Amino acid sequence: MTDGDRVASGVVVPPGYGAQVDETDLQHLRRCVELAAAAVEAGDEPFGSVLVSASGDVLREDRNRETSAGDPTAHPEIELARWAGTHLSPAERGAATVYTSGEHCPMCAAAHAWVGLGRIVFASSSAQTAQWLGEMGVPAAPVLPLPIEQVAPHVGTEGPSTELAPLVHELHRRHRERLQA
Ligand SMILES: [Zn+2]
Repeated sequence: MTDGDRVASGVVVPPGYGAQVDETDLQHLRRCVELAAAAVEAGDEPFGSVLVSASGDVLREDRNRETSAGDPTAHPEIELARWAGTHLSPAERGAATVYTSGEHCPMCAAAHAWVGLGRIVFASSSAQTAQWLGEMGVPAAPVLPLPIEQVAPHVGTEGPSTELAPLVHELHRRHRERLQA
């Protein structure tokens, strides 16, 4: 963990937070970053997520659609949780992994836990996102950037990725530049 993983709001990052991910995880995370880039191209916030079964099959993917759908809650992580809740058995949900370019917000972490999905692997942490947006002068979000552990303590998490977090940072910069263009 680096000092950059701490948020100005005083949120404490739990021990073990920031563990590194393996090559299979990185493949799925790279797809999440691609989806986040596609979101930026469409004028949406830079977030993308992938739902993967216990056997490694990609079951579903989505990206942020807040602007294009006109719905501030159109986050990919809650969409995947809702899809899993109606398409997968409890056992399948518990064994599935959600990969995401940016750590789940409290709303999405709660949905993830309510439907009983398995572990979460993220490329960049909520603390990083909050720091990056703060540095770009973006007003604080209406919801605290709590780590998943503080919302859904029984969900296993891995991240951020030292390789991919800088790419997500760049997507946030690109998105803000597009908004100001
Ligand atoms: Zn969310």
